[in-house]
Amino acid sequence: MFIQNDINSSPLSTAFHEAGHVLIHEIFDWPYIDVSVTEAGKEGVNYSYPDPKPNSPDTDKLIYACVCCAGAVAEDKFKFGHDAPKENLGASLIAGYGYFGSDATKFQELRLPAGTLENILEITADIVLENWEAVSNIAQIINEQKHVCSEDIHKLLNETSFRKDTEQYLQRLIDVLKSFGG
Ligand SMILES: [Zn+2]
Repeated sequence: MFIQNDINSSPLSTAFHEAGHVLIHEIFDWPYIDVSVTEAGKEGVNYSYPDPKPNSPDTDKLIYACVCCAGAVAEDKFKFGHDAPKENLGASLIAGYGYFGSDATKFQELRLPAGTLENILEITADIVLENWEAVSNIAQIINEQKHVCSEDIHKLLNETSFRKDTEQYLQRLIDVLKSFGG
């Protein structure tokens, strides 16, 4: 039985959480400067790009929604490993409580149609699982160095099997919005 607080305070699980966010930035060429974790387990991806607002283009909002989801998805996959059912990855984001509160809040601020979160989580889980080796490599370098700039992540990913299928992933996100009348 996991004790939620102990796991949440682990720098390695936070590194996986941040690696999930970083993966989506890399897949969609969404700018970021660097990523860091502290021993206390605090997180952060620094942006060179303003957060999308409700009046931003739909594609920007969808990519950012995916960024929001990916931290919880990657952290859950790391914690629960092979036994993690895909539909449970990132479930904490739906509850919108505690540690993941800021990602859940950012997602809500995008004002995407109600019900899209579950669908975007599922697509995010596919992206994270299809690129798990890349996520693991990113998490390891974050955990070792505590602070990594985006250039070093790009170099790392050039040496990693990495499925940068941007168009296909973006189309799936757009299809979610269309299915909700967006
Ligand atoms: Zn996060």
